[in-house]
Amino acid sequence: MAGASIAERLSGEEVFRVLKSSLRVDWRDYVALVAYELDRDPFAVLAAIILSQNTSDKNSIKAYLRLREEIGVTPEAILDASEDSLIEAIRVAGLPRQKARALKALAGLVAEHGGSEWLLKENPWRVREELLRLPGVGPKTVDVFLSIYRRAPVFAVDTHAARIAKRWGLVGEKAGYREISRALLEFFGAERAEEAHRLLIALGRTYCRARNPRCGECPLREVCPSARLH
Ligand code: SF4
Repeated sequence: MAGASIAERLSGEEVFRVLKSSLRVDWRDYVALVAYELDRDPFAVLAAIILSQNTSDKNSIKAYLRLREEIGVTPEAILDASEDSLIEAIRVAGLPRQKARALKALAGLVAEHGGSEWLLKENPWRVREELLRLPGVGPKTVDVFLSIYRRAPVFAVDTHAARIAKRWGLVGEKAGYREISRALLEFFGAERAEEAHRLLIALGRTYCRARNPRCGECPLREVCPSARLH
């Protein structure tokens, strides 16, 4: 645990309220939500989250729409597609070979279990375990999915959430994924985890940027222990 923590000044619920009232969250800015709105299918949402790894939502949304148009975002369509056509369709998202391999592996697993329904009906921790065995699928990918689709008590940690949790003093500088995820889940509470995850992305994009954070304009400047350090 770092020295000063935002938790000494405000509860997670109060921070959540401040973020919610001062940040704009538009589903069109998040590839997982674009997939959810367009396709309402758990496999499609997972595929979109895979596309978003190590790239911006802007690029992953472009890749998702192209994949949807040229190949289709179902396990059958992905399994039927040639690796080259898959790579070409998702190229704009970066790391196309690695992501094509992950999509094929995901499609194989879901098909093996009889289709997308498995992702909804199976025990979420079992789903987590099986997904984490796939190449190119890490805890963030799985936790974003489980929190959007299964409302599971997990907090997905991306680079924004990790940076902010450290600046807020909820965890130390060296904390890894699990520690940060647990700290944010405990701070915000499971019922707010999914929305809080998106609010942290919005905070990170708008104010709490990796370089030159805009602390002077940040809605949390009065309570954040790192506000004066930048
Ligand atoms: S005050 Fe600065 S460091 Fe703290 S959350 Fe806001 S932008 Fe980030």
